[in-house]
Amino acid sequence: MPEKKRKKYWVGFDLGGTKMLANIFDSDFKLAGRARKKTQSKNGAQSGLDRIAETIEGALAQTGLQKDQLAGIGLGIPGPLDPSRGLVIHTPNLGWRNFQLRKPLEDAFRCPVFVINDVDAGIYGEFRFGAAQGTRCAVGVFPGTGIGGGCVYEGRILTGRNRSCFEIGHIQIIPDGPLCGCGQRGCLEAVASRLAISASAASAVYRGEAPNLQAQAGTDLSNIRSGALADAIKAGDAVVEEIVRNGARWLGVGVVTLVNLLAPDVVVLGGGLVEAMPAIYVEEVTRVAQARVMAPFKDVFKIVVSQLGDDAVAKGAAAWAEACVDGK
Ligand SMILES: [Zn+2]
Repeated sequence: MPEKKRKKYWVGFDLGGTKMLANIFDSDFKLAGRARKKTQSKNGAQSGLDRIAETIEGALAQTGLQKDQLAGIGLGIPGPLDPSRGLVIHTPNLGWRNFQLRKPLEDAFRCPVFVINDVDAGIYGEFRFGAAQGTRCAVGVFPGTGIGGGCVYEGRILTGRNRSCFEIGHIQIIPDGPLCGCGQRGCLEAVASRLAISASAASAVYRGEAPNLQAQAGTDLSNIRSGALADAIKAGDAVVEEIVRNGARWLGVGVVTLVNLLAPDVVVLGGGLVEAMPAIYVEEVTRVAQARVMAPFKDVFKIVVSQLGDDAVAKGAAAWAEACVDGK
């Protein structure tokens, strides 16, 4: 196996609210293997760290690789974190606070480990391999359980000195609006995340206005996921469609601020809601953004859907690890 031994492999990890994914890529970024586990978010950070390590071990076992063939590991983690220290500051949807991720994984796998925000990883993946190739400024907006954002500017992920940033979900768009998971009021996430949309859809089911969603998911928020919303709309639940379109329009209002601040070449929409209903999202976000940006910014940006889909975060995290190790 001398040939295989010389090759470098990179692990890209995506820690989602419900599932975690470890992908292993060869030096050409072709997928060599993968493993998934449920996140089990209620069990705390230490248990989460153990599961992350087990999932990476599982992907290694599946590909028949040894730890010493790994050149680096990149982890895409939700919520504000400190990439310089590999520290999770706070992940509201998992309940992890001030938790060191990098050191124990470097000890376990004996290779460099990089911890970055998940949508930073996603938009970096799109910049390297997908919908944002060749751009000067690419912005990622990924609505899901929350709403994540990320920005790649001239090939680098935009971050603070010791904080990831670009928390588009917490742009405040309705002063004194609904409470947000972050503790503030009127954030974009409080009106346009999957959780906010599902809560409105559950009310519509309760009022008897969404029979198809009722048959499929009932009023339980944990069952009203992106796929269930998309299916109900296809089956004719007009009220559900209006609720989703309204959420997408709010997302467009958030995008207006990003365009006015950064003049990005491209805004890439991704995440569960967009993957389930891409046409609705592109249509509404584009319409609102074009109508509301300052005149000089009209028509100089594009709103597109993620090309890497489910793999965006893991592939981008692995590619970021490569960029950091190889100095790209
Ligand atoms: Zn917030």
